[in-house]
Amino acid sequence: MPSSEITSFDQLAISAPLQRAILELGYEAPSPIQAQSIPCLLSGHDLLGQAQTGTGKTAAFALPLLQQLDLSQKRPQALILVPTRELAIQVAEAFQSYARYLDGFHVLPIYGGQSMDIQLRQLRRGVHVIVATPGRVMDHMRRESLSLDTLSALVLDEADEMLKMGFIDDVEWILEHTPPDRQIALFSATMPDAVRKVAKRHLHDPREIKIAAKTATVDAIDQIYWPLSESQKLEALTRLLEVEDFDAMLIFVRTKTATVELAEKLEARGHSASPLNGDMNQQLRERTIDRLKKKALDVVVATDVAARGLDVDRVSHVVNYDIPYDTEAYIHRIGRTGRAGRKGKAILFVTPRERRLLGAIEKATRKPIKEMQLPSRNAVTERRIEQFKQMLASIQEDEDLTLFRDVVTNIAAEQDVEILDIAAALTWQAQRERPFVVQESAPLKTAAREFHEQSGPEKKRKKSEKHAEIDAGSARYRIEVGREHGVNPKDIVGAIANEGGIPGKRIGHIKLHDTYSTVDLPAGLPVQTLRILQKLWVRNRQLNLRLMD
Ligand code: AMP
Repeated sequence: MPSSEITSFDQLAISAPLQRAILELGYEAPSPIQAQSIPCLLSGHDLLGQAQTGTGKTAAFALPLLQQLDLSQKRPQALILVPTRELAIQVAEAFQSYARYLDGFHVLPIYGGQSMDIQLRQLRRGVHVIVATPGRVMDHMRRESLSLDTLSALVLDEADEMLKMGFIDDVEWILEHTPPDRQIALFSATMPDAVRKVAKRHLHDPREIKIAAKTATVDAIDQIYWPLSESQKLEALTRLLEVEDFDAMLIFVRTKTATVELAEKLEARGHSASPLNGDMNQQLRERTIDRLKKKALDVVVATDVAARGLDVDRVSHVVNYDIPYDTEAYIHRIGRTGRAGRKGKAILFVTPRERRLLGAIEKATRKPIKEMQLPSRNAVTERRIEQFKQMLASIQEDEDLTLFRDVVTNIAAEQDVEILDIAAALTWQAQRERPFVVQESAPLKTAAREFHEQSGPEKKRKKSEKHAEIDAGSARYRIEVGREHGVNPKDIVGAIANEGGIPGKRIGHIKLHDTYSTVDLPAGLPVQTLRILQKLWVRNRQLNLRLMD
């Protein structure tokens, strides 16, 4: 079946326990990469997938791998190699959540910086899936606490990142120590030559999957993005609802569960919001859309599936609360606004990891997406005062205030106070929950700043390269890998940051000599970290890190 016709997980021959887990997670339909990868991997083919974070690629390989495990065999059957420890943890958690109904399933994340003892114990206990950074896997293989002879599948996740961090030789070394007939899936956001080469050398007749980037014109729509972290999304949305001049707003989230939860949270904050998802029957969906049309409802929180074809002229704003899987979905989503010759505004929430998708979307729409300018405190204050005035005006117009006028007149006479002071006191009371003067939301601003800071240890290092003096609080260390071994600073930063768990910004100047190098690191590193760094391998050399005299 062509993948474009796959609109539900039922069509993907996924086993009942996995279906159940997906259902509970609230996934409504497979993402494009899932629709393509899952049948391919289930049929035993190798796969070369160009996909970035946010496309649903983790489930695209995790589900078929889980389905093919033999749980009665407590030995490593699948290995996922990832560039960073964060990703190792995240992917292992994803496996765990999809496998919640697979009895006895064990997944183990292994990465540098974590106690070797714990890992050894868990490996001895038996695991089915390992999610790991390359360095630590090599350590275990060398000390023979891990053998990859029993692997039937291997995934290289974010292969281009592994390349950037100097892990590609390690990845090849690991690949060479796996059985020849194992299935391989390689995912990469970009396909530089070096990644293609690895694919060519190790994958057997792979199916290539790429999410097509359709272009479209979206002239009537003002596109904006807001850099933030996952945990700030609700606060950001609340802010938007307050400061944006909208008629009706359509908010897109990933799961059915999220439509309900978010709509409830918005209702609790006083907005008239409703969910719109594929679990609702046709009649209920139509009723919701009808209420939106008739202004009985201003905010709808929808999944892509449920909002397909939604055509309501008064939708002035589309908010991509969760980034769409691909550019096609994005174009479809934002096309729900700017209808009938009106202007529309599309706002996209982007977390740091999703930066790449933002770039892809800009390309597809051939229009730059501007960054959201947070309204100033004063602007918010003015707006709140304006809303308050309007509320007062409409009360005066619509309500019978005779009794209330009498009460106020009496208070003024009895207490001998000005009516103005009474009005001020009542205004204070009315705005108690929502003061005119807002608290500056520091976290939202910080998030934007962090988003724009050059990311990754490598770029941060460039800054420090300019001055070779040791920063206060740093110490210079010697490591036994140098120019002759083909190392470059990037490899060293990548290895130390990842395996030693030292943040990139704490890694200072690196100087390469022929047979060794020096690197500035925080003085007084914990013994445990020192040990890890001493034993770390880069370019097939053990670092043997030592403090310089
Ligand atoms: P990934 O691209 O693998 O990092 O996934 C991004 C996010 O999308 C994760 O939070 C997943 O839980 C979520 N996700 C993946 N597949 C689906 C799906 N078919 N429906 C809804 N959410 C999904």
